[in-house]
Amino acid sequence: MTNESRAVLPVFERLQQSFVLGKTRTYAWRKAQLDALQRMLSENEQAFAEALRADLGKSETEAFTTEIGFLISDIRHTKKHLRQWMKAQKVSTPVLAQPARSYLQPEPLGTVLIIGAWNYPVQLTLAPYVAALAAGNCAILKPSELAPTSSALMASLVPKYLDGDAVAVIEGDKETASKLLSLPFEHIFYTGGEVVGKIVMQAAAQHLTPVTLELGGKSPCVVEANTNIQTTARRIVWGKWTNAGQTCIAPDYVLVERGCANALTEALTQELRRQFGNQPLKSKDYGRIVNARHLGRLKQYIDGQEIIIGGQCDEAELKLAPTVILNPDIDTPVMQEEIFGPVLPVIEVSSVAEAMDFIKRRPKPLAAYLFSEQQATQNTFVEEISAGSICINDTMMFMANPQLPFGGVGHSGMGRYHGKFGFDTFSHQKSVMKRSFWFDVAIRYAPASARKRYL
Ligand code: NAD
Repeated sequence: MTNESRAVLPVFERLQQSFVLGKTRTYAWRKAQLDALQRMLSENEQAFAEALRADLGKSETEAFTTEIGFLISDIRHTKKHLRQWMKAQKVSTPVLAQPARSYLQPEPLGTVLIIGAWNYPVQLTLAPYVAALAAGNCAILKPSELAPTSSALMASLVPKYLDGDAVAVIEGDKETASKLLSLPFEHIFYTGGEVVGKIVMQAAAQHLTPVTLELGGKSPCVVEANTNIQTTARRIVWGKWTNAGQTCIAPDYVLVERGCANALTEALTQELRRQFGNQPLKSKDYGRIVNARHLGRLKQYIDGQEIIIGGQCDEAELKLAPTVILNPDIDTPVMQEEIFGPVLPVIEVSSVAEAMDFIKRRPKPLAAYLFSEQQATQNTFVEEISAGSICINDTMMFMANPQLPFGGVGHSGMGRYHGKFGFDTFSHQKSVMKRSFWFDVAIRYAPASARKRYL
């Protein structure tokens, strides 16, 4: 244990102690804590909305649908199914091992660490906690320092509503994160970028701690000609410019069949005006960029590009208008790095097959989108494209289904959560076999000479 980690050690030890004493194991405790977490969110909905406006300029509606409301429905779903999820699952026993009963018994892992990201600072810290809590774990939550108001609010509310012997919020930057990472957690759940994902995995290796890495990447969106362009544009605008494009599953770029590129860029332009008005920088429904560093990075992406709409910037308010650029060079940073902001490159391709080839030659994305009315195209896309999630004819909507796991593949991450998948991530499925004494075939016992008698 390093000197640095001693500062957070007492908190870790307090939680470990509760876990060892079995405090978090019962259904009654878990259910009561989930109720309390739900109360914390609903009684402080306004305070959360204000914090999210302060950190990211989110509108109240967006704060509710993508963070607080999302979490409340996640908790409701979890409470509805928790008893069932906690049950042992019976499996068959082969003749060789009979008579016996075999089953899988889910058990909590212990004390876990959850490191959240800034773009959905409340959801990305508390949704993994809903799963960890439901599975009966103790947890330390480390929200992102880049959303300081939301981080402070969670740090002040969690001890008021939840059992302080089982959960703690520790605020801080990467120094704090690395202190925490030196402790022997039973699981680390990290949301953020790939570079830090590697640091987390390396630190976890010191204690053989399993990790879930919720990372990002460039999520492609393919548009086939002859599809319903108005609805396609409306759904792309929603997925791309919610939270000013700072969403891990936002369409990063569009690959459109050449024949309908004009129609698509026109429809995107109209739809952007309809949703955010002629002066999007002043729209209450349009968020801001998290900080000046990220704003500078995004402005560089559009330098020298063919801008179809947008490009305006309000440095003081940290806002960049929804921006569509056409056919950027694939070697420029906007097509090499994850954009994570309100800039959408639209690139013409000759066919969906060419678009799929483009995607397959790049790291596996967190999400991949296809707009097509052709069943055959849809099937080929689902079959051949590897991505954390695929959504046909919409963007991001798969998030609304707790029956679908959320998580990446390859460079977009490892592990998954949401609904039962989150419960399973934070559980160990212990295999149990119960035998009795009443029947004992001696064939497996030494000496071998005695065994022969039975053969
Ligand atoms: P961030 O800067 O908020 O960092 C994430 C967390 O890592 C923070 O809590 C931060 O304190 C911690 N951290 C930073 N440096 C660290 C270090 N050296 N050691 C240990 N911890 C450290 O978020 P970010 O990385 O800018 O997030 C953006 C990325 O996250 C994008 O790639 C995005 O796609 C991805 N993302 C993924 C998801 C998902 O669910 N898969 C969700 C949101 C964001």
